[in-house]
Amino acid sequence: MKILSDQHTAFELEAHRPELAFLPIGATEQHSRHLPLATDTILADQLSTAILEQLDWPGHVFLLPTLPVSSSEENTGYRGTISFTPLTMRSIVRDIWDSLTRVGIQKLIVCPWHGGNFILKPIIREMNCEKQQCHLFYLNPWEQVPAAVYDQFAHGFEVHCGDVETSLMLALNPEYVKAERVDNPTPHFKAPLQDMWSMKTLSGGEGHTGHPTQATVAKGEIFKQAVIENSVRYLQELLELSQQYPEY
Ligand SMILES: [Zn+2]
Repeated sequence: MKILSDQHTAFELEAHRPELAFLPIGATEQHSRHLPLATDTILADQLSTAILEQLDWPGHVFLLPTLPVSSSEENTGYRGTISFTPLTMRSIVRDIWDSLTRVGIQKLIVCPWHGGNFILKPIIREMNCEKQQCHLFYLNPWEQVPAAVYDQFAHGFEVHCGDVETSLMLALNPEYVKAERVDNPTPHFKAPLQDMWSMKTLSGGEGHTGHPTQATVAKGEIFKQAVIENSVRYLQELLELSQQYPEY
């Protein structure tokens, strides 16, 4: 399997005829005092490539450029957060898919590395239902990591920018992690509260949850392996099922 990207020419894509595409979704949003606005986009670039490198697929795959902005409404109120509304996200995914299907790339994996894109699930259901074919796949890599891995971190499954995400950045991109790591003094809250309140309100202004000071390179390495392995396994399962059940 060859991974084609926007670094290839249109004629190279024409020659290899990929039938599967992969859309990584990042974000431009506040990541507290210690991580850059582009954190999700940087992780999306690196980890999406790592996932595809391990995927076993009979054809070639077109890795689209990571979308650097998505739906970050819960992280607005800080300078630097740029957010699309959910309906804009719907239009973007539909337009990308239309561009692909016009030239015969029928399958698209949509892979959000930023958790706030709740609109993606209904869009994928809507589009598969509309075509009556299983053409779009939803892969949320954070959800593929087993609970036993999250249990090694300060607060288990993480809302934003705490022990997990900071460890991952320390393992992959230590140069981006600033020294100003502050543990959040406000009680840890569950992600669904963000349906009602912004991160700014819930985090007492700090912009993160949990304990970034407990992040380590070693924990980041463990998480990196787990997120890659488990995402590959799930994707493999979805693609095999789509051969077995091509209709919606
Ligand atoms: Zn993030």
